[in-house]
Amino acid sequence: MTGRSELTSYAYRKLRARILAESDVCILCGHGAADATDHVIPVSKGGAELDPDNLAPIHGVDGCPVCLRKCNNEKGNKALTEVTRLVTSRDWYAGP
Ligand SMILES: [Zn+2]
Ligand SMILES: [Zn+2]
Repeated sequence: MTGRSELTSYAYRKLRARILAESDVCILCGHGAADATDHVIPVSKGGAELDPDNLAPIHGVDGCPVCLRKCNNEKGNKALTEVTRLVTSRDWYAGP
């Protein structure tokens, strides 16, 4: 039972590097310099673990240098849509 998890983490690291090379804009706060990736749909909720379409840049343990949020912590195990509802909920606010 050792082989598979090692393989998976290797594939995951490779995929993460690829995602971050393409973009480092955090999916949660929208700032750059993301240093981790997270699943848009958590694997525990049926998301594909190694699908590049299900992975996006996010701020990891160091947090965001701009807004100082620990985005990956904040997102936790929620689906991104559950979290961005909070972020984009200000869309209804059309004032100046
Ligand atoms: Zn962020
Ligand atoms: Zn930020």
